[in-house]
Amino acid sequence: MKEFSEQNGARSIPYEHPGHVISTARAKIPHEPNPDEKIILVKRIKQLLKQQDAVLVAHYYVHPDLQDLADETGGCVSDSLDMANFGYQHPAKTIVVAGVRFMGETAKILNPEKRVLMPDLEAECSLDLGCPIGEFSDMCDAHPDRTVVVYANTSAEVKARADWVVTSSIALPIVQHLKARGEKILWAPDRHLGNYIQQQTGADMLIWQGSCVVHEEFKARELAEMKARNPDAKVLVHPESPLSVIQLADVVGSTTQLIKATRTLDASKFIVATDNGILHRMKQLSPEKKFLEAPTAGTGATCISCNHCPWMAMNGLVNLAQVLENGINEIHVDPEIGRRARIPIMRMLDFARQISLPTSGIGNA
Ligand code: SF4
Repeated sequence: MKEFSEQNGARSIPYEHPGHVISTARAKIPHEPNPDEKIILVKRIKQLLKQQDAVLVAHYYVHPDLQDLADETGGCVSDSLDMANFGYQHPAKTIVVAGVRFMGETAKILNPEKRVLMPDLEAECSLDLGCPIGEFSDMCDAHPDRTVVVYANTSAEVKARADWVVTSSIALPIVQHLKARGEKILWAPDRHLGNYIQQQTGADMLIWQGSCVVHEEFKARELAEMKARNPDAKVLVHPESPLSVIQLADVVGSTTQLIKATRTLDASKFIVATDNGILHRMKQLSPEKKFLEAPTAGTGATCISCNHCPWMAMNGLVNLAQVLENGINEIHVDPEIGRRARIPIMRMLDFARQISLPTSGIGNA
């Protein structure tokens, strides 16, 4: 069983490599400011954003304080691709990304001339960590007949080795398109999303065995029991979850698609199987509705995440203020890697335009 430990203000988070090898990565536990400190910090951050011609883009999974601050200062709260697109279109010279490292890298790849800062450069992602470029390149080299499709939750180096980058909303039509052209696929890194796409499309997919430490924890039997206790609730599931959990869903989709479902479905209660950071936006948009977190406890549960990404949790008001104050934690991407990684990202964006899928809403995680 994977073990989780906490020491000296940091958590040790186990994640899987292919072959079920377990490594660990640190996730720091940030200081939670008290209400008075919050007021001072928010005021200072607003000043600094203006002074430094900077815009804050935040992921749906980060602390509600950061989401609210991004909204209030003319930034954006969204999924990773929209975050990058927003920075691309925004005139600010500095983009501050409140999320995890691959999101900062994607912003830098799409905006190489801008300064990209992050509250904590050690905010990782188990999918990114579990797909190191050396082993991934070996797999690509061993299967030169396959089209390489990678999820956005990967390093710049892995993206640079890919033919396509996809996000959870657009993965299905892209794989359908490749299958129709008779292409065989090498998919990385999320095995659950890969299995789901394979099941939906029937495509020939060789799947890297990575997983998200948050979505991996949702438990089907306990979810079925919760559903039975709440027969009026609709079940919303992110496709990084195991197939047994996906099978219980009324809606399977990316963060943006799940948020949209809470507004369009004829229901007043939802069971949500994704990071609980998303509940802030769902409640803002539908304050009259009820949201339940899908269960992570049960047989085989490790409570690594308890419905919240330990690396997303590293973003806070304190380190955001420090970064803006001192100009630290800048994201750098090797220009040649960035140039190559941009090609499969732009291929995805062009495809989205061709099928009239707005770039808003095709983000991942
Ligand atoms: S929630 Fe999962 S996929 Fe998203 S950043 Fe955290 S570990 Fe990665």
